[in-house]
Amino acid sequence: MMVPAPEVQLKVEDAIVRFGELHALGPISLNVAAGECVVLLGPSGCGKSTLLSVLAGLQDLASGQASRGADTKPPGFVFQEPNLMPWASACDNVALPLALAGYDRGEQTASARRALDAVDMLSFANAKPSALSGGMAMRVALARALVHKPSALLLDEPFGAIDELGRRALNDLVHRTKVNANLAILFVTHSVEEAVYMGDVILVLSPRPGKIIANIEIPNSARDEAFLLSPDFGKYVTRVRRALADATAGTS
Ligand code: ADP
Ligand code: MG
Repeated sequence: MMVPAPEVQLKVEDAIVRFGELHALGPISLNVAAGECVVLLGPSGCGKSTLLSVLAGLQDLASGQASRGADTKPPGFVFQEPNLMPWASACDNVALPLALAGYDRGEQTASARRALDAVDMLSFANAKPSALSGGMAMRVALARALVHKPSALLLDEPFGAIDELGRRALNDLVHRTKVNANLAILFVTHSVEEAVYMGDVILVLSPRPGKIIANIEIPNSARDEAFLLSPDFGKYVTRVRRALADATAGTS
């Protein structure tokens, strides 16, 4: 029996972005399918955040195409900072997208509590952001990005400011969510180890204007301690480091 290919949820084809005279990105083409995590690694300023903005529908292309799957809901988006409203509880922060979309109050709260539960933060539903650690605030930001049950999630260096153990726990949470919700994830990181741990595919970009210069697949390994400690993990890290060094050779 033929197994149908997973549905493509995020797609760009020959995409180019310019800001006036500045050629910021591309041409670049990529697909992210349901249940897949594609990681973008590349030098600062090569256009990674710009590409996420394109896929969120916030940035126009100079040429090429960007499209999403059948889902009409916008992708969830998480940035480097959790960007929580300091005066509002964790629950009200998570409910914000639903409030803006006009859901009634009961539905907002029920969905926000479900989303908080999914990131192990339900017991902090009434806490203000100032009472949360960096990792906990990031969990709330993830819950807010997922509260409307999107098919795709855009992550822009979300865990860079979080300590090693907290980052590992967040990585496991994102991986679990990807599997459970069949999410398409486009994940920007500076960390080669995080890229190898999270990515089904790692795309290494050239300096601006970012183009794909290496495409490294990490076949369906489990994301767990055994993978982290395996010789394979080390081999992938070395491969990705080499590709990144080639990408930036001749620049500083
Ligand atoms: P990255 O996320 O890979 O570090 P960005 O996508 O933020 O890179 O930026 C790519 C390039 O486009 C950079 O040179 C940046 O200065 C420029 N840029 C980004 N956004 C804008 C904007 N709104 N207006 C003008 N230039 C921009
Ligand atoms: Mg960026």
